[in-house]
Amino acid sequence: MRLESGVEVFVSQRVGTLYIVATPIGNLEDLTPRAVRVLKEADLIAAENTRHSGKLAAHFGIATRMIAVHDHNEREQVPRLIESLKAGKSIAFISDAGTPLVSDPGFPLVRAARAESLPVVPIPGPCAAIVALSVAGLPSDRFVFEGFPPPKSGPRRQRFAELCEDPRTLVFYESPHRVLECLADMVAVFGAEREAVVARELTKQFETVRGDSLGALEVWLQTDSEQLRGEFVILLHGAERTEQQVAQAEAERVLRILLTELPVSQAAALAAKIAGAKKNELYELALLLKS
Ligand code: SAM
Repeated sequence: MRLESGVEVFVSQRVGTLYIVATPIGNLEDLTPRAVRVLKEADLIAAENTRHSGKLAAHFGIATRMIAVHDHNEREQVPRLIESLKAGKSIAFISDAGTPLVSDPGFPLVRAARAESLPVVPIPGPCAAIVALSVAGLPSDRFVFEGFPPPKSGPRRQRFAELCEDPRTLVFYESPHRVLECLADMVAVFGAEREAVVARELTKQFETVRGDSLGALEVWLQTDSEQLRGEFVILLHGAERTEQQVAQAEAERVLRILLTELPVSQAAALAAKIAGAKKNELYELALLLKS
């Protein structure tokens, strides 16, 4: 609202949009045409590293003004960016590679923009975790993204121990200078036999995706130092349930169905026959389920 010759004039100010733009994780052909257009048309590009992203911009003929927003200045820059959005400027946010916010800056900005009900629009593209999962050949119906494990061995083993029984595929990022010690800790906690995949230098010249037991992958990397260069995603098969656990779950499933129609002792006896389980154990379980 502003005053003009003593008359109140209402000005409806259009707010700007915050675009969260994914960029290539190696291969420049993976920048989508939509991303190029948004980066060209935005009033401002907020980039994790302006020198790094300057090369991407030059390659695609993007001349939009660029400012640096990274982990160390994001808290101070966010209020300024929010003011610009409120003033109608559109901002494209990019990290060095891949999808912003995924082990990358951007969370405070997106959080603040959404808190102010400003439009936040995703421009999707590569994300190393998803790219790796798509070719790993490990179950992908349920998975856990764990980002970077703790850098020190003690807390790292502790984190792995918390995940040891998780039946979902586990996805980790790791830097080249820690990948060997990380694998050693994985072997120690998950066991040398756990199936795993190392996905290295995805979409780049030396892209390598190798699946084997954790123990074998550790030996492979120990003996071939060429493979220790570049960027890594490590994926682990989730914990397998033992035959006994599977049988128990099946017996419980049958028991639950029968309990909806039959008294406890009859349901337990019938479920034991169907699932080949012990009647007295199912009787105890039935009492528990009923209560
Ligand atoms: N935001 C990015 C994304 O969407 O994947 C991740 C950024 S994080 C700072 C960088 C880590 O991602 C690397 O250390 C590596 O673990 C993984 N990464 C990125 N690019 C990769 C590639 N081309 N191949 C394998 N891993 C990659």
